[in-house]
Amino acid sequence: MRQVALIALLVYCTQAAAEVRSSDFTEPWQVYAHELLRDSIAFRSVRGEQQVVPFAEYLAKEFIEAGFPVEDVRVLPMDSAGEPSASLVVRYRGISKKRPILFVAHMDVVSAAESDWGRDPFTLSEDEGFYYGRGVLDDKFGTTVLTSTFLRLRQEGFVPERDLIIAFTGDEETKQWTIKSLVEDHLDLIDAEIAFNVDAGIGRLDTQFKPIVMFLQFAEKTYVDFELSSSNPGGHSSKPPPENAIADLAKAITAIHEYKFPVRSSAESRAYFAAMGDLLDNELGDAMRRFAENPDDRNASDYLSNDPEYIGIVRTTCVPTMLRGGHAENALPESATVTVNCRVYPGVGVSEVAMTLKRVVNNADITLTTLGDPLASPPSLVRDDVLAIVTTATQQQYPEVEVIPYIAPYGTGRLKAPLAFDPIR
Ligand SMILES: [Zn+2]
Repeated sequence: MRQVALIALLVYCTQAAAEVRSSDFTEPWQVYAHELLRDSIAFRSVRGEQQVVPFAEYLAKEFIEAGFPVEDVRVLPMDSAGEPSASLVVRYRGISKKRPILFVAHMDVVSAAESDWGRDPFTLSEDEGFYYGRGVLDDKFGTTVLTSTFLRLRQEGFVPERDLIIAFTGDEETKQWTIKSLVEDHLDLIDAEIAFNVDAGIGRLDTQFKPIVMFLQFAEKTYVDFELSSSNPGGHSSKPPPENAIADLAKAITAIHEYKFPVRSSAESRAYFAAMGDLLDNELGDAMRRFAENPDDRNASDYLSNDPEYIGIVRTTCVPTMLRGGHAENALPESATVTVNCRVYPGVGVSEVAMTLKRVVNNADITLTTLGDPLASPPSLVRDDVLAIVTTATQQQYPEVEVIPYIAPYGTGRLKAPLAFDPIR
């Protein structure tokens, strides 16, 4: 029940984002959380501004002033590809030696220009019950709700059954070196039985802002970029041979564009579509229900695949995103290259996708290179006990709201390294 209480707070704050005006706050903890969010937004923790370390130190001070022992509040300076960054790790000690529960969020934000926003993105503002500011949702909401919840629970004398750990990372939106460093160099500080990433999973509201569903994200796609290149000896454009690097690559691009990867499903994705289908009284909902019943139903999977919102939840997708080639208007192109961005279905290997692309292109002269070092993103186990606790906590606030396991058709700041524990995002 103690864990239920904690998660209930998280859920409450998620849902409340669009409903509660700060002038309605009466509880000291609501007022504090609002001030904390306001002060957090003011840190320009974007790459290049070097504000992540001061932000981490500011948050650390909040924990220490609230009575957390200094040794349990660790600001860990870390390099993020040349930029000074940091992680903040806080341990809330429990009474048993059971493996801890970890909560993850990130302190950095994507840069934002005042000219695009029409207001200062680094000043929290409020308009008609909505908050505006860089990080209000992603992810200073996460750092604020975790910090204020830890502080509140401690002040109320709550002692957790097992250790609870906060890990705030510093460069989730860019290089993601800090989470890697946490896992590789400081695993002892964050080792846990289960990890919750506050940056993932989300509640949905209807058009009247009434909460209708809560997604508990357990899986996401693997992100991977490939480059495909064709090359020719070149020469003068007045003497063209049958082969042409640009034309050959264009055929490859068309083939990739037209190819549909095999339909995939799992017990969890079928449960997701079944629950979502029940919420929607239209053709889309019908396709979802039919897919949930029978993933081999071609009409259903085609219908979902034609919707950009859902294609990523039924299959791997690969799309050409960038193109370069040729070097002069009157010269035969010596090379042409396309970047292909793939979002790989959980559990499918990157090498399997590379092999499929080669087969689809069907031209041995076109080379395929995997960019960077993509890490496969296997799905987390949806534990019944976790789903039950999150459902209970959610329904304490909103009895009508169902909690549905969810696959994100994109990647979030998951723990990008081999783990000793199983993250629920
Ligand atoms: Zn985020």
